[in-house]
Amino acid sequence: MMVLMGTMPKPQHLRELPLVSVPQGIPTQVCLTCKVCCRFPEIDSFLRPYFTEAEIRAAIAHGIPEAAFPRHEGCQIEVVPHPAGEGYLCPAFDPVTSRCRIYEVRPFDCQLYPFVIMWDSAQKMVVLGWDTKCPYLMAQTQGRSQTDSSRHLANGHLLLSPECQTIAEAVATRIEAAAMLDVLAAHPALITRYQDDVVVLRALGELTERVRRKQRAQSSPSC
Ligand code: SF4
Repeated sequence: MMVLMGTMPKPQHLRELPLVSVPQGIPTQVCLTCKVCCRFPEIDSFLRPYFTEAEIRAAIAHGIPEAAFPRHEGCQIEVVPHPAGEGYLCPAFDPVTSRCRIYEVRPFDCQLYPFVIMWDSAQKMVVLGWDTKCPYLMAQTQGRSQTDSSRHLANGHLLLSPECQTIAEAVATRIEAAAMLDVLAAHPALITRYQDDVVVLRALGELTERVRRKQRAQSSPSC
């Protein structure tokens, strides 16, 4: 029997949550000339963006095939072969214009990049990091003295320029707002495992506590 999306009652943890957004961290013109984002070396790349249920609905409404989403309650998107044979592309990416076809409704995961929400190396704290694969980050450290560059990457932490620090704080504040905590608790796949090429910016204490509380509730026996 075919079941239409939205006709079955949903468990609390899968209830539909709103689309959420974060401030843009990188100037749009920088992103449009970048050769990193939206392209993936393997078909099952760990870095494929995750879409929540609301984001999947929006992407499908904007022309992305339903088949790109194996689980409509939330999943990573299925990538497609690059027409030039150079790995794989997000199906929303237009390689001719280097633009996202669903930019206005691109998922939170894509809005967030190059910021990353991940567990720390000890798996104790959720942290906000900055992916060093983003060329913009390296541009931010170029032109500084050797001492400054070392200091910027000292102890696994990144000391950002004042402008980037402002963006990072705005993103962290947005992440720990109530609506966003609901979304992240319902979609823990948005919190990635530790990545050693992502530099830690700061701990996300409220998010860590929210996720831990949910884990405790799920592991405690029901009456
Ligand atoms: S949804 Fe858009 S921004 Fe995100 S990976 Fe796909 S093409 Fe890139």
